[in-house]
Amino acid sequence: MSIYKSRRVGDSLVSKLPNVGTTIFTVMSKLATETGAINLSQGFPGFDCSPELVSLVDHYMRKGFNQYAPMTGVPALREALAQKTLDLYGIAYDPDTEVTVTSGATEAIFAAITAVVRHSRDAGPDEVLVFEPAYDSYVPAIELNGGIPVYVTLTPPDYTIDWQAVSQKITDKTRLILVNTPHNPTGHVWTLDDLNQLANLVHNRDIWIVSDEVYEHILFDGRTHHSLMTHPVLQERTFIIGSFGKTFHITGWKVGYCLAPADLTTEFRKIHQYLTFSTVTPIQYALADYLKEPDHYRQLPDFYQRKRDLFLAGLRGSRFTIRPTEGSFFQTVSYANITDEPDYDLAVRLTKEIGVASIPVSVFYHQKNDYKMIRFCFAKDDAVLQEAAERLSQL
Ligand code: PMP
Ligand code: GLN
Repeated sequence: MSIYKSRRVGDSLVSKLPNVGTTIFTVMSKLATETGAINLSQGFPGFDCSPELVSLVDHYMRKGFNQYAPMTGVPALREALAQKTLDLYGIAYDPDTEVTVTSGATEAIFAAITAVVRHSRDAGPDEVLVFEPAYDSYVPAIELNGGIPVYVTLTPPDYTIDWQAVSQKITDKTRLILVNTPHNPTGHVWTLDDLNQLANLVHNRDIWIVSDEVYEHILFDGRTHHSLMTHPVLQERTFIIGSFGKTFHITGWKVGYCLAPADLTTEFRKIHQYLTFSTVTPIQYALADYLKEPDHYRQLPDFYQRKRDLFLAGLRGSRFTIRPTEGSFFQTVSYANITDEPDYDLAVRLTKEIGVASIPVSVFYHQKNDYKMIRFCFAKDDAVLQEAAERLSQL
């Protein structure tokens, strides 16, 4: 019998994230599984990755590449990433000092935010500009580092950025701006003008940027991805975050990366080495080989545009109001013409009653703004998308 039984230590633990519960992705995926619904909620492909990629991982595992990778990532993968970046965007990152492999984009985002944001005794908390709706890992990372999120609210139908409003939110305390293009959950894609507007605001100021570009290869209707690295004023202050999960249908492998100028990368790596130290070794070698064939990512826009269009064709007879998504594998739709239920309630009801799970967009706003929008992930097999669209059209 324990002699330490009077009081549990947990009773006095004060939460560092009092407002955080279980993420909506887990909640909705669980509900979809329990009810047998088609799961268009959490963003992950419903089909498998390439068998060639699996064979490459198998090959490197059998060859004995099973111990710790270098902290910064295996050289072959860093070099392949630098080469791909040069080929695609014309920007040269040094694989030794400016490219770091991480355990998913989630880790890279956390490390980059941690490298910059602080609460200093003299100046107080740093302010971080967040465009909302915002991917759910950003704000907890800011708060755990003692920073304060300052929100710029984007609204349907087009979620474009009002740069005048952004400039009014920038103060002497603004230390970081979080960018996400193509955007989750809205699919909104930044234009060259957005890059220029941001550059004008941060020029000559001590403001850094984390640019989450995990959907860099998934853009539609001939759009181009304008990476922040392509603007010199932005490039010198930006941590570019990428993920192989979205590009090669391997969200469960959790491999991402950060591209940043050497001085930023030095600080980034100080955090990365104590967060995870390194990332799974045989997968890194496999990805280095697989990246050498550009078609593996060049075919993605066509591949996903066909799926988007198939899903939208299926919804044509529905009562949703839809603007085709510009990028990412998410489609948001407005149900304002159908019902005035809160979006969370509708997402739960649709899962239970018609058997299609979605994500309510209000969860991506800090005050849970409800614009009657729900998000569907269309990275699914064609038959699944057709069946889901048919069910949704009954509403
Ligand atoms: N950023 C965005 C915008 C995402 O949608 C996701 C996940 N889908 C991530 C980051 C996290 O990526 P990873 O799974 O590589 O950690
Ligand atoms: N990024 C995925 C989405 O937006 C989910 C990632 C996760 O489950 N944490 O749905």
